[in-house]
Amino acid sequence: MDLRFTEAQPTAAEREVVESVTGPGGVESHRRVRTAANLRIFMTGRQSVVDRRHLLLPALETVQSEIGWVSEGALMHICRVLSVPPAEAWGVATFYSLISVDPSPSEVWHICDDIVCRRAGALELIERLEAGGAEAPNARWARSPCLGQCDLAPAAYIQRAGEDDLVMVEVGASELGEWPNNTSLSMANGRSAKPTVPQSGQPHLRLLRRVGVVDPECLDSYLAAGGYQALEKAVEMGPEAVNGEIKTSGLRGRGGAAFPAWIKWEAVANSPEPVRYLICNADESEPGTFKDRVLMEDDPFSVIESMTISGYAIGARRGYLYIRGEYPLATERLLRAMDSARQRGLLGDTSGTGVSFDIELRRGQGAYICGEETALMNSIEGFRGEPRNKPPFPTVSGLFGKPTVINNVETLCNVLDIVTEGGEAFASMGTAQSTGPKLFCLSGSVNRPGVYEVEFGATLRDLIDLAGGLPEGLEPRAILLGGAAGSFVLPDLLDMPLTFEAAVEAGVSLGSGVIMVFDQHTDFGDILARIAAFFRDETCGQCVPCRVGTVRIEEALARIRRRPRPGDLELITEIDLAMRDASICGLGHTAAIALRSALDLGLLE
Ligand code: SF4
Repeated sequence: MDLRFTEAQPTAAEREVVESVTGPGGVESHRRVRTAANLRIFMTGRQSVVDRRHLLLPALETVQSEIGWVSEGALMHICRVLSVPPAEAWGVATFYSLISVDPSPSEVWHICDDIVCRRAGALELIERLEAGGAEAPNARWARSPCLGQCDLAPAAYIQRAGEDDLVMVEVGASELGEWPNNTSLSMANGRSAKPTVPQSGQPHLRLLRRVGVVDPECLDSYLAAGGYQALEKAVEMGPEAVNGEIKTSGLRGRGGAAFPAWIKWEAVANSPEPVRYLICNADESEPGTFKDRVLMEDDPFSVIESMTISGYAIGARRGYLYIRGEYPLATERLLRAMDSARQRGLLGDTSGTGVSFDIELRRGQGAYICGEETALMNSIEGFRGEPRNKPPFPTVSGLFGKPTVINNVETLCNVLDIVTEGGEAFASMGTAQSTGPKLFCLSGSVNRPGVYEVEFGATLRDLIDLAGGLPEGLEPRAILLGGAAGSFVLPDLLDMPLTFEAAVEAGVSLGSGVIMVFDQHTDFGDILARIAAFFRDETCGQCVPCRVGTVRIEEALARIRRRPRPGDLELITEIDLAMRDASICGLGHTAAIALRSALDLGLLE
C-alpha cells in the first residue's frame, strides 16, 4: 500500500457504512446506530478534519462488522474522509486480527485453541474442521487465542457480516454443523446453564454482590440494590476527599502491575492541564482471564458508576471504555447501561448529579498487546496498537497527549465500596500491602471453574477448594499463576497466601488473577508450545529482541520437545535476558517466564 491515494472507490454500501461513523466530509455531527438497541459506536458533537484520526479504528471496525471485510475502495474512502495516508491506514487495519483486508465470507468462526479450550476438546473440533478445509461457501474458520470464556470451554467467537456477533460456549461437534457443506450454527449466542459465579448470592461478596442478583439490563434494578449511592456520596464529599479515600484504601491495580491507584489519580487530579482523560481498560486478553467480562456482562452499571466517580475525582470530563472485540454481550450491555444512565441524567451533561462526565466505548479488534496501557491509547488515537516508550507516563502525557488515568475494570469497581464505606474499611480487608477483595479466575482441572471473590490472603488451596477441588482421581501437578505471562508453581506452594507481597517473595506474580490447575496427566510440552506460539503471534514487532526472540524461543522449545540440541536451554535463558533488558513493554519482559518456570520445575521431563 502506497502513501498516495489509488483510484479505488467504495461501493454504495461501503460509503454509507463509513460515513455513518465519520460523517460525509469532516464537520458533521454523527451518531452511529445500527440497531434499535443502539449497540455500536456512539460519537456526537462537531469534529474538525484534523482531530478525526481517532475515528480510524471505529470506521474500520464498522466496515468489517457490516460488510465482512475492508476492501481497497472502503479503505480509500476512510482515508479521504479522515485525511489519513493510505499506507498508515493499511498499517492499522492489518495490525488487528479481527479486521480482514482480503475478501471474506460473511461468517468467520474463531475457534479458541488456547490452553484451557484445547484441553476441553477444541483440538478435536479443529481436527474435524481441518479435514473439511478452511473455507466453506459462507464461512471460514481460524484458530483463536483465548476468548476469555475459560470457565465454559471450549469456546468460539463468530463474526457475522451485518448481524450481531456471537459467542458460543461449551462447543461440541453438533454446534459447528456439517462443515463445510452445512455451516449453519445450531446454537444461538449459547450461554451455559452453569453459573460463571458459583458464589453468586453469598452475603460476604462485594465486587460480585450484584452478579446474578441484579438485572444487568435494568437501571431500576441497579438503583434498588443501592446503585448510584456511591456517586451521590462522592459529590457530597468533593473530589479531594474522594482522592484521599482512595489513598487511604491502599487500592492497587488489579490488571497485573499492582500499581497504587492513588498515585495515578493524585497526579492527574493535581495536573495544571485542564483537559484530562480517564480510561477503563477492558481489553481483558490474558489467557485464562475472564473476571472483567463477568463484571461487565452481569453488573455493567457498576462499571459506569465507578468510571463516573473516577472521572469526577480526577477532573476528567470524558472517559473511554476500551473493550476487547470478542466480548459482544458485555459490549451490548454496557452500551445499554450507558444509554439508560444518560436518559436519567446520571451520565453525560449531568445536571442531575452535578458531575459532567461522559463515556465513549471503543472496541478492540483482536490484539493482545492493546491491553498494554500506551498501546491502548495509540489504538484509540487511530494508530497501530504499539506500546510507547515511558517516560513520559500517561499521568503526564497519555491519551491525545493529555494527563490520563488508566485502570482496569476490577480496579475501578472497587471504588464504589471505598467511597461508600471509606478507605479505612477497605484497607482493613486483606493484608497491609494487599488491601480489599480480589477476584480470581479458576480454570483447568477443577470441578467448578469460574470467577471467585476472596479477601487478599486466602491461599491457593482455599481457592482450589472453593472451586470444588480436582475431579476424582486427579491430583494437582502444577498451577499456572497469572496467565501466559505468569509462572508455573508446584503443589508445595498451595498454602501460599495470595497477596502481592507473598507472590514477590515466592518469585511469582498474581498477574490478572489467573489460577489454572493442571493434573498429573497434563502434556506440559503441548501447553508450553501454545504459550510460546501465543507470544510469537502477539508481539507487536517494534523491538528486535521481542520480535525475533519469541520466534527463536518457540523453535528452541520445539527442538527440546523433539530432540534437544546442546545449548537449547541456555539459549532460552539468554534470549529471555535480552528481551527483559531491551524490550519496550511488559510483553517482552514476561514472554519467557512461564516457559522458564516450567523448565526449572522439571515439568517437561
Ligand atoms: Fe512490541 Fe514486544 Fe517491544 Fe512490547 S516488547 S513493544 S510487544 S516488540
